[in-house]
Amino acid sequence: MVHPQKTRVAIVGGGYGGYALAIRLDAHLDVTLIDAREAFVHNVAAIRAVVDPALTRQIVIPYDRLLKRGRFVCGRVIEIDARGVRLANGAAIEADIVVVATGSHYAAPFKPQGDSAAEFSVRLAEVAAKVREADRVAIVGAGAVGVELAGEIKAVFKDKPVALLSSTDRLFPGYPARLHGEIVRRLRALGVELHLGDGAVRLDATDNPWFGELTLESGARLSGLIFPAIGARIAESPVHSLPGVERRRNGRVGVDGWMRPSRLPNVFALGDIADTGDAMTVVGTMRQAPWLVKTLREIASGKSVEQLKPYAPWPTPPFLLPLGPRRGVSVLPLGKSGLVVGDGITSSIKGKALFIPRYHKEFGRP
Ligand SMILES: Cc1cc2nc3c(=O)[nH]c(=O)nc-3n(C[C@H](O)[C@H](O)[C@H](O)COP(=O)(O)OP(=O)(O)OC[C@H]3O[C@@H](n4cnc5c(N)ncnc54)[C@H](O)[C@@H]3O)c2cc1C
Repeated sequence: MVHPQKTRVAIVGGGYGGYALAIRLDAHLDVTLIDAREAFVHNVAAIRAVVDPALTRQIVIPYDRLLKRGRFVCGRVIEIDARGVRLANGAAIEADIVVVATGSHYAAPFKPQGDSAAEFSVRLAEVAAKVREADRVAIVGAGAVGVELAGEIKAVFKDKPVALLSSTDRLFPGYPARLHGEIVRRLRALGVELHLGDGAVRLDATDNPWFGELTLESGARLSGLIFPAIGARIAESPVHSLPGVERRRNGRVGVDGWMRPSRLPNVFALGDIADTGDAMTVVGTMRQAPWLVKTLREIASGKSVEQLKPYAPWPTPPFLLPLGPRRGVSVLPLGKSGLVVGDGITSSIKGKALFIPRYHKEFGRP
């Protein structure tokens, strides 16, 4: 591969990892970005759209103006091999390099449940109506999605009772203990009823919010609109059937030091699907995509992969947790274990605009 601009790269999946790689490679290599959906869904902002459904229009962003030299193809990839990929409609896309970024699913309404971005918007509006209608809300799971949702609901519906359930006593145990304290203090000030170390015994559904009842491990009972927010699930991916792939228990695939998941030397993976050592976050893709850009450009100019510096995951990843537009807590990647900061910085970096203008700009929608 001595003509970098002629090196064909097929990127499977245009979520946070795939789109970021595509746009940054576009000027240098011959990029084809393939996604089963017609539009990118900025799911980070979907939590607020549950209380502000007008936001939905802004977070579903068509791919058509993303790339200048390369192209977007809407279709589901069903097979990958050393020569490229094959789509469900039978079309084949030849490539010198394939990058897989097929990502993960999350319960409705936070991520699309199928291949239609339009259907995602409909689902989000239905859930927003249920939240307005509900006398009380219970959120099962106090990861970032559950905690943010509690904060967003309370920021708009101050008097609506909101319960938040965590099966562990401590929130975000991988981060400094101060983070837990600062979040708990703010949630209590907002009036969120916290059930720490007291998870739900059983959930009637894990993929959709529903009106019903819950029994907690302590025997306490809750009723109202119940949101399952118990984590992401890796999407079934054509990468899972490549030779030599190690599929981990959670569905992520093991990768070598250069983000390659299989015995095929020209197939790479990033984002949630790839067990790179980073957590399943957009933040992870923000470190992986620039590394891949540099690496793929060097490969295209004739270097062999093994000559290049391997990928190293985030030592202390940043963490931004808004509780509505004005409040929140963050960990900035400073010092050994990170610096915990509060409302002002969280709001100005993320809480106020949820990065929506940035995605509009990148997708060519001023
Ligand atoms: C509500 C919510 C809020 C979040 N907020 C944050 C946050 O604030 N910060 C943060 O760091 N992380 C956040 N996350 C996590 C973040 O969304 C994920 O880590 C991220 O989506 C992973 O990006 P990805 O590129 O790996 O995959 P995804 O974003 O899941 O994208 C995968 C893409 O691949 C496509 N695809 C899948 N299979 C195929 C196929 N066979 N053929 C063609 N296309 C295919 C899908 O259509 C999809 O567009 C949040 C998650 C949720 C649910």
